Amino acid sequence: MLSKKMVKAINDQIVKEFYSSYFYLAMSSWFEAETMPGAAQYMRLQAQEESCHALIFFNYLHEMNERAVLGAIDAPPDKFRSPLHVFEENLAHEKRVTALIHKLAQIADADKDYATRSMLDWFIKEQVEEESNARVVIGKLQRVKSNGEALLMIDNELGARVFTIPPPLVGKI
Ligand code: MG
Repeated sequence: MLSKKMVKAINDQIVKEFYSSYFYLAMSSWFEAETMPGAAQYMRLQAQEESCHALIFFNYLHEMNERAVLGAIDAPPDKFRSPLHVFEENLAHEKRVTALIHKLAQIADADKDYATRSMLDWFIKEQVEEESNARVVIGKLQRVKSNGEALLMIDNELGARVFTIPPPLVGKI
């Protein structure tokens, strides 16, 4: 059984994950307008991955015999200064999400809620990857500055990303 505090925190996290999806979709649109189709594709896939994260929490509530109570999703920003700025915002956002996931783990620890604590393990590892992915792109963009040819290469590289369903959601979508 989940504590009321945990149910509320997971419901809040569902909204945050959908907000992440919205945020990355806004970034995708910005890249479309900048004629960077690879980066636009990368962010569309990132958005899709975030809705999957929301669904993992959504499913978990039902597995634990609780209800998902869906809250309002804020509108994300739609203006960015540069491709580098987009990925810096990506990293800053993922750092905030990491803090939220860690907060959930702290609640689970305080509740001696072993089921939720173990479900969160996957998210804790996923956040390490999310931050690292953003950092890698930031490093490349810092190196190329405004060299058009190099930027095109990075755009192609980003466009090669493929979507894979996050393991906790396989067979449950
Ligand atoms: Mg996420």
